[in-house]
Amino acid sequence: MLERKVFGSHLRRGRILNSGWSFLELPVAFAHPCGTRKSKCQLVRTGVTQTGAPEIIVLLYHNILPPRATLTEDIGSIPCDVLAEHFQILGEAGFVNVPLAEAFEQIVDERPQTGPPRFAVTFDDGYESLARYLPSLTPVVRPAVFLLTDYLGQCSSTWNTRSPTKLRHLSLEQALQLAQVGVDIEFHGVDHHNLLKFDGAELDERFRRGLTWFADHFGRHPRFLSYPYGACNDRVQAAAARYFDGAFSVTHGAWRGERARHAANRLSVSSFLRGEDLLAVVCSPPADRWHEQERRAPWRKGASRDLGHNVPRGPRS
Ligand SMILES: [Zn+2]
Repeated sequence: MLERKVFGSHLRRGRILNSGWSFLELPVAFAHPCGTRKSKCQLVRTGVTQTGAPEIIVLLYHNILPPRATLTEDIGSIPCDVLAEHFQILGEAGFVNVPLAEAFEQIVDERPQTGPPRFAVTFDDGYESLARYLPSLTPVVRPAVFLLTDYLGQCSSTWNTRSPTKLRHLSLEQALQLAQVGVDIEFHGVDHHNLLKFDGAELDERFRRGLTWFADHFGRHPRFLSYPYGACNDRVQAAAARYFDGAFSVTHGAWRGERARHAANRLSVSSFLRGEDLLAVVCSPPADRWHEQERRAPWRKGASRDLGHNVPRGPRS
């Protein structure tokens, strides 16, 4: 039995022996099914969808910082030790990491899943830090990295006007080395333009250029697309469907089922979430996850009701 402080109370979790399942003990009020007795805690089998816990969830990260690094203003840069804590606590709660391709098959399958809850890990933009830290994580998780093919070896300041930091992108050699240690390399776009602005012919040209680049450098086509900013509508999804088996969004798509095939939502994990926070967010009903994450943001703590301050920052991709 493990116990950690969360929600101002204690979260207990443990594995049910020989079942492959785990349980959480959440500090919330509920009516006991056998009577009217109230409890401050609720036992939850992770993976049971009516509790909000997911059968399958895809996590989205961006940049990795050195261990114990002071958090920067960039909520997409996460210290390596915090990232490891995320995976450790999910594992302790019974979540099993699966490759993105396996997660995708489960996401688009409408049937209820059996077995433990699963999670896949993705990194967007392809920053250079991934070459330093992902090889040490690959024994624990099998991540996918979505590359911007025009930006390899360049600095993010050439395109990312919203970022408070300048980050280098992976070189081609580094991306090839990651592929050799089992990292799934996929496609985030030739650049980071919002695809909604392009017509069908322009989308075709961009996707063909990306596929050609992949074939030339990796000897294969990418199976999956991650939309820059998660932005996609029916037209962009239809274009993506002509070139990719699946496509991932952040908030513009669906969490499960056929509608998610070319617009699968991911949880964009902010660096201010410690392991217990991430577990609570992941176990929230899908519609509440973004709110649950925002609730834990440093700028929410002690924030006044003055809407002129502490403006929430949206999910990124
Ligand atoms: Zn991106």
